[in-house]
Amino acid sequence: MPEFSDLRVNGDRLWSTLMETAAFGGTRNGGICRLALSEEDRMARDWLIAQAKKAGWQTAVDDIGNIYILRSGRDPSRLPVAMGSHLDTQPTGGKFDGVLGVLAGLEVLRTLDDKGIETQASICLINWTNEEGARFAPGLMGSEVFTGDMPSETARSRKDNNGISVGEALKAIGYAGEEKAGDRRFGAMIELHIEQGPILEARNIPIGIVEAAKGQLWFDGCVRGRESHAGTTPMDLRHDALTAFAAFALEIERIARAEAPAGVGTIGVAHVGPGSRNTIPGNVRFTLEFRHSDAERLAAMRAAAETAAQQISADRGVHIELDCIWQKAPVTFDPNVVAAIAKAAERCGFDFIHMTSGAGHDAVAVAKVMPTAMIFIPCKDGISHNEAESATPQDCAAGANVLLHSVLELAGVSV
Ligand SMILES: [Zn+2]
Repeated sequence: MPEFSDLRVNGDRLWSTLMETAAFGGTRNGGICRLALSEEDRMARDWLIAQAKKAGWQTAVDDIGNIYILRSGRDPSRLPVAMGSHLDTQPTGGKFDGVLGVLAGLEVLRTLDDKGIETQASICLINWTNEEGARFAPGLMGSEVFTGDMPSETARSRKDNNGISVGEALKAIGYAGEEKAGDRRFGAMIELHIEQGPILEARNIPIGIVEAAKGQLWFDGCVRGRESHAGTTPMDLRHDALTAFAAFALEIERIARAEAPAGVGTIGVAHVGPGSRNTIPGNVRFTLEFRHSDAERLAAMRAAAETAAQQISADRGVHIELDCIWQKAPVTFDPNVVAAIAKAAERCGFDFIHMTSGAGHDAVAVAKVMPTAMIFIPCKDGISHNEAESATPQDCAAGANVLLHSVLELAGVSV
């Protein structure tokens, strides 16, 4: 497609749409509070559909509220190429997480219209419902209902803190569609997203091509020792749950560092009981999560943590329990889609690196039913899920340009 090498999105227009739609749920501190299926979400959705209608593209909504905007291609026998992400945010979310992937997709469609470019396969922009899981748990709801991982009925019965169900909220904002989620097929799906981590910014590289997503293992844990008097119990006769936990936490750090950078391990919560200054701690309840892009190494991290728990229990006369409450296998994205993104980045003249996503995304969820990959752009200080979340207009435009050329590569252009 050499004749399209110079094709670029309108970066200023993309930036204005990001700023304009940030008003739907905009917060005083410059962030967005746009909880899934809220009135603010409805406004953003209505705005998106209005843009599609104005342009003359087809729109559809499925029974979990996922929005599909289709720009027809010349060859109806080919499966559409999809781009998409999510318009919902965390309660104190930023202007880019999810939103960029949807609005960059809109900008891609607008650019194709501007230049009168006809693709072979149709191009479909998708807004996935409730990626964040902030109002209705769990997240990735629209994409996991699409793949069949979560039955639509189960999803629609989930309730928020006010007892309103997803099904009721969908009806209230007018997005309970007729079409069954998962009935559509796509030739590929690409999600553009901010990195939500510090790597691209630190290396001053505008584009990350995501070829895999880390698997995850979540544990609830408990150290049981023995409560006793802080003044009368000699040091060598203690069964201190807190010091045992401290030793265990340092072991977890050692295990995770040995797997860096592909593996990470985090103890995010620890409650010490009974919580008295002059009682030796009798228990510590904690959470532990491991993430790794390689399933075998993830299993090895778990085995190492279990060995450490046994060893420390024996050494210190305590009992450390680990209960695995949730797991997700690593996902490898489609090599052809990854290659198309690399080709697109080269065509646009951007430096890029291949990366692994440490976070969950709609693209990670749908990768099991369609060829999928992701594009990352840098975000300031790697901060996300925060009103201070920030990305530059240049990087947003760079991501949208790589999205444009990836989609053209996969959909094919009629000349
Ligand atoms: Zn997101």
